[in-house]
Amino acid sequence: MDALLPRVLTLAKAIQQIPAPTGEERARAAFVQTRWQEEGLPVVTDAVGNVYARVPGAQASAPPLVISAHLDTVFPADTPLTLRQQGDRLYGPGIGDNSVAVAALFGLWWQIRAAGKPLPADVWLVANVGEEGLGNLKGMKAVVARFGATPRAYVVLEGLGLGWVYHRGLGVRRYRVQIATPGGHAWARAGTPSAVHQMAALVTRLDALPLPPQATLNVGVFRGGVSINTIAPEAEIEIDLRAAEPAALRQLSKQVEKAFRRQRGPRVRLTWEIIGERPAGGLPERHPLVVAAQEALARHGVRPALTLASTDANWPLSRGLPAICLGLTLGGGAHTTDEYIQMRPLGTGLAVLADLVRALIAP
Ligand SMILES: [Zn+2]
Repeated sequence: MDALLPRVLTLAKAIQQIPAPTGEERARAAFVQTRWQEEGLPVVTDAVGNVYARVPGAQASAPPLVISAHLDTVFPADTPLTLRQQGDRLYGPGIGDNSVAVAALFGLWWQIRAAGKPLPADVWLVANVGEEGLGNLKGMKAVVARFGATPRAYVVLEGLGLGWVYHRGLGVRRYRVQIATPGGHAWARAGTPSAVHQMAALVTRLDALPLPPQATLNVGVFRGGVSINTIAPEAEIEIDLRAAEPAALRQLSKQVEKAFRRQRGPRVRLTWEIIGERPAGGLPERHPLVVAAQEALARHGVRPALTLASTDANWPLSRGLPAICLGLTLGGGAHTTDEYIQMRPLGTGLAVLADLVRALIAP
């Protein structure tokens, strides 16, 4: 078993070297598929591009466990993926989020195989697409559509955040809003409504909205206008709403849409679309799955902490299914080209994962 950590790291490096922006995960998925086939595991794929390997358990009819890690990264395909090691740190875009977690799926299988006898039930290893950016959890939706309420749990792996147990999914909703007006010459057509002025008024209106507890509103993008002496005929914003509670996200969405409607006028055409959606959901702190994850961490000397985030676990959680997300090692710089992982704590993360799987699958 001593060889486990270097083996997983070698594999994580190979995975990291394959570009996999959201929507373009095909090459990385093919790599994972081939490697699982070489391991002798039965492998299937689905229409959206997810790859599934079944680790057969002793009892085929027992409820399985689903362990997933997303394949995609936030980096465009032409990003240099250079890896660099400094002490215990391994630097490289996407190494922590989420190459190391995909490699950990193999690490889990190697630990199960080394134990010499099958687990009581099947474990499905899933490398899924569509977690980052505007992927809208497309991959995870297909995973949940496939397994439904059958699994005893969905365990989602993230490379970073060892010690964190994400038992609540932060809900996210994103809008793109466009305003169009007749526009015209700044002097000759003075008095005609300007899309930029209208949009600024809308942003002011949004900024003044009272937020429900544990909710945020951010206008992250604002663009519009044609030239300095033209009354702007169009403007556009993108808004990101987040809330811990589904009801809060619904309430905030309602307020925001009301503000949109109020900004409309006879010569002010306002349209909006939802460009991103991750429903909120969560498990209570005393839920057996949440407790089991904390216990597994504690058994390996890691102090567990409960938290919430927006991950693939959002989708099963929003459907009322038992799911958590677990971090595997320490690191930093996620979503930047200075991303790194610490290599040694990964050994602990891998042991915690195998331990948790055994605990969850006990008959
Ligand atoms: Zn991630």
